[in-house]
Amino acid sequence: MAPWELRWDTLDLDALERTESIFALSNGHIGMRGTLEEGEPRGLPGTYLNGFYERHPLPYAEAGYGYPEDGQTVVNVTDGKIIRLLVQDEPLDMRYGRAIEHHRVLDFRSGTLRRDTVWESPTGRRVRVRSERLVSFTQRAVAAIHYEVEPLDGDIQLVLQSDLLANEPVESATKDPRVGSALDAPLVAEHGEGDGLHAVLVHQTRRSKLRVAAGMYHSFEAGDGMACEMHVEDDLARLSAAIDVPSGSRLAVTKLIGYGWSARRSVPALRAQVHAALAGARQTGWQGLLDEQRAYLDEFWANADVEIEGDAELQQAVRFGLFHVLQAGARGESRAIPAKGLTGPGYDGHSFWDSETFVLPVLTYTMPESARDALRWRHGTLDKARERAQALGLEGATFPWRSIDGAECSAYWPAGTGAFHVSADVADAVARYLAATDDEDFEREHAVEILVETARLWRSLGHHDVHGGFRIDGVTGPDEYTAVVDNNVYTNLMAQRNLREAAAACERQPSVAARLGVTDEETAAWQHAASKMVVPYDEMLGVHPQSERFTEHARWDFDATPQENYPLLLHYPYFDLYRKQVVKQADLVMAMYTRGDAFTPEQKGRNVDYYEPLTVRDSSLSACVQAVLAAEVGYLDLAYDYFAEAALTDLHDLHANVRNGLHIASLAGAWLVAVAGFGGMRDHDRALAFAPRLPSALTRLAFRLSYRGSRFAVEIDQSGASYTLLDGPSLTVRHHGEPVELTKGAAERRAIEELTPREAPGQPKGREPHRRTPKF
Ligand code: BGC
Repeated sequence: MAPWELRWDTLDLDALERTESIFALSNGHIGMRGTLEEGEPRGLPGTYLNGFYERHPLPYAEAGYGYPEDGQTVVNVTDGKIIRLLVQDEPLDMRYGRAIEHHRVLDFRSGTLRRDTVWESPTGRRVRVRSERLVSFTQRAVAAIHYEVEPLDGDIQLVLQSDLLANEPVESATKDPRVGSALDAPLVAEHGEGDGLHAVLVHQTRRSKLRVAAGMYHSFEAGDGMACEMHVEDDLARLSAAIDVPSGSRLAVTKLIGYGWSARRSVPALRAQVHAALAGARQTGWQGLLDEQRAYLDEFWANADVEIEGDAELQQAVRFGLFHVLQAGARGESRAIPAKGLTGPGYDGHSFWDSETFVLPVLTYTMPESARDALRWRHGTLDKARERAQALGLEGATFPWRSIDGAECSAYWPAGTGAFHVSADVADAVARYLAATDDEDFEREHAVEILVETARLWRSLGHHDVHGGFRIDGVTGPDEYTAVVDNNVYTNLMAQRNLREAAAACERQPSVAARLGVTDEETAAWQHAASKMVVPYDEMLGVHPQSERFTEHARWDFDATPQENYPLLLHYPYFDLYRKQVVKQADLVMAMYTRGDAFTPEQKGRNVDYYEPLTVRDSSLSACVQAVLAAEVGYLDLAYDYFAEAALTDLHDLHANVRNGLHIASLAGAWLVAVAGFGGMRDHDRALAFAPRLPSALTRLAFRLSYRGSRFAVEIDQSGASYTLLDGPSLTVRHHGEPVELTKGAAERRAIEELTPREAPGQPKGREPHRRTPKF
């Protein structure tokens, strides 16, 4: 456990796939799993480029009108990480010989993955291998590896082989043979070149017709007498270098790797692009790339760090999470942020509402330009979203439940297209970004159009009933164990905000509204629908049913459900889950976070008490939201348990699938728990409010936020909180309801009143979170 790095000291072959996800490096543009340089042993090798996918037919036994026909799956592209080593004719392979020392370190401040291995070959020759690699945040088309070998037993001959390898055979992550075959050797060779120390391979996917160029360049630090040869074939470029290394010296090489990909650019254009990326990286040099990476991360941590005192393991986990959120979102630049980032093939590389609802709040308040870029990607998909709405007989735009390029790829209606709320989630992220930045250019060029088209969707999807109420029927909320329902509270409240934000944006930007054909009657209709939005309430129980009649359903028989039958979706038919009260993930509770302004404190308390015992957390998106609400209603120690669950989801592989990639939303969720849970931050009504309160185990929590050109720090301990403006114009925030004016130079400290403790509700049998005891 260390506050700024993640260190793994052994080579556990069974854990290889997990460590490859955890040690993945990415800049949001290129992603590389943390495989060993020598290629084997390996778990699930992967190199991914944001937006680079193959198409395949979607599997349906019985097709229906409006079902999407094409699926998209992220492709493992040309692998540039491979560097093999022969030690006096023995290949370095950790499964043979003996690893006398071996550790790997993911360093959150240098932004690199380091490895240090002392290996003894089966014939008793020892070498020390050190490597450090990065995917550059500053040169987004570039990755680099510095690799060093030192003989430990006298003079030795070393042969190094450095590869670019396309169509690497990988065990398919999918059980569907049609998808598997689309991904079996998906790249068709178009061009290969190599001379001296450099090589480039260009390939194209068979169906999606995306083109990728991968290049490598080497610079050696070694004595005289090195014999080098570059060999190029369709799917392989290999540099072989042989040299005698005398005792006391070493062989070092820097391998620069460059990528370029496009749906439109020609082979020569992509080749040129990769040559240029490599030329830039050569000019910067290895040390220069390291320095740039460090400077980029220094800036990131100055804006985004979360400090936790009282639990060293959570301190590390939260920074690990933030590092990966940064890696997923930093340089995506108008491409999506997938649910797994670029760390693995899970969910086919698709993006979901995870991005806008979980990841973008973090980026909006720490790296607003990255939030803007991710929203630009959504804006760039508006045409596809409009087409989809049209195909469904709706107006405006309906964003896809899951996608890489913006077209709907979910083959399962009830928890796919049925989850219309994703469109309101996008609108919410747009509104949050605007309120937090006052970015007028973005408002004019992108935001108004997104808000208008999504408002149009709601206006056409819902209708006024005979009593005048505005109903949205037949949709699915966040809880995927309840589908195609009427008046899901989350969806309706989010749609209500969407309609209001659209009307307000049109008022602020009348010329954009006019260009989009918005009339006064239309905005009046949005306002009217919003004001009449149906929000079901169970008067008898005094709680909100998450959708109409939900509280009348039979309760799931939790006592008769054995532990090994979770997640329920793998052991019970959906029809049974759908008709019972059992909640996969926070839904009504989610509404109380994102639309907390629509509930009274008493309603929040009663709703939490009602839904806790029904929520099984079969999705990793749940614990963080439950934590935020538990903290708000005063169950601070329960919130702390959930905090640990969200933050450790991947490090402890709590969902037993980290091999397929990290759960970026849950990692972002750990930030949400710190800032919105224990910091009590809410951003309703274009203002920031805090209601900080720490669980008993934590002695201090500190974080930094960016807001409308200002940066400020919040520090919380058990008795009070201080707010300090770090730079930018002064601003006013609220502390437990009271305004606090932040001006440069003065920390404003305010007291926190003690809470009267209340007993927290229980969870379904066997689904209690681990009771957290702090770890140091
Ligand atoms: C969750 C969804 C989520 C998806 C991707 C599912 O298990 O239920 O809410 O968007 O995973 O993370």
